[in-house]
Amino acid sequence: GKSGHMNLAKEVFEKLPQPNQSEYTTIIHCYGLNGMGIQAIELYYKMPKEFRDEGIYISVLNACSHSGLVQEARSIFQSIETKTEKIYSTMIDCLSRASLFEEAQKLIDEYDHDHSPSIVMYTALLSGARNFKNTDLSQNLYDRMVKLFPQMASSLTSAAVLLANTYASSGDIDKASNIRNKLHKLGQKKQMGITSTVVNGISYKFRASDRTHPRSKEIHAECEKLSAELLQHGHQYDSSWITRPLNEGETIESVLSTHSEKLAIAWNFVANPGALRIQLTKNLRICEDCHRATKLIAAIRQCEIIARDTNRIHHFSTDGKCSCNDYF
Ligand SMILES: [Zn+2]
Ligand SMILES: [Zn+2]
Repeated sequence: GKSGHMNLAKEVFEKLPQPNQSEYTTIIHCYGLNGMGIQAIELYYKMPKEFRDEGIYISVLNACSHSGLVQEARSIFQSIETKTEKIYSTMIDCLSRASLFEEAQKLIDEYDHDHSPSIVMYTALLSGARNFKNTDLSQNLYDRMVKLFPQMASSLTSAAVLLANTYASSGDIDKASNIRNKLHKLGQKKQMGITSTVVNGISYKFRASDRTHPRSKEIHAECEKLSAELLQHGHQYDSSWITRPLNEGETIESVLSTHSEKLAIAWNFVANPGALRIQLTKNLRICEDCHRATKLIAAIRQCEIIARDTNRIHHFSTDGKCSCNDYF
């Protein structure tokens, strides 16, 4: 029911004797998409309380947001016991759409107090500022984002585009084209990450998600195996190390577990299953997720891994530590 089929969806839903949790989520989500915030809220209060989870909260808050029901969103938000990053982001989006920027900023501060800052929340606020052509707030936010999230190239690029649009829509064409020119130059300079490794005397190069190697199937299978072992040993994939939008069928794990560093490591284990020593060279700085994962892999597989990047040489030893002491 994502467009004009709302009435039909509603009819079908009302005939369900005992809708389950995902049916409630779907119908509330549909109400939201169709600007039927009131109906979404009514159903939210009627449904069994034990069904309320992150998905329901996000759907109902979104429904409020798209119908401008800020007060209703506030009271639902306040009643939620465990507020996740996504729930905060949805509420911040709701406030930003209503140009309640100070209140949105307060929520971000509240979240940042006990968590590492989330670029999604800043982006929501920045989009709100763009909608209301608030150039001062946009510039401030963008400057803070650059300081807080220096690694997140693609999110920062989107933020810069938003900022340029804000200037353009408020009539400051010079500033807008300045930013766009800078972006253009950056785009041309941006280098692709490549990891090379020497296996049995031959040098191989890998890009992220690379499938050009003749034994790619085995290499990707080994990546999956390594990923399962990593998760078993407490590794957590952190979406903030993803620097581009996900394609369909991709997950945070599938993207991070096939970074060039990890593919190069996997190829070593495919070619030499009992490898005791692996050497890698990366043309950029090694990414944080790969650094954490490589420490664990060295310990799990009892294999010393030496990785040279643009800044230094990392010796990952079999006790799960790196010579850089995580300072890189
Ligand atoms: Zn990586
Ligand atoms: Zn290191």
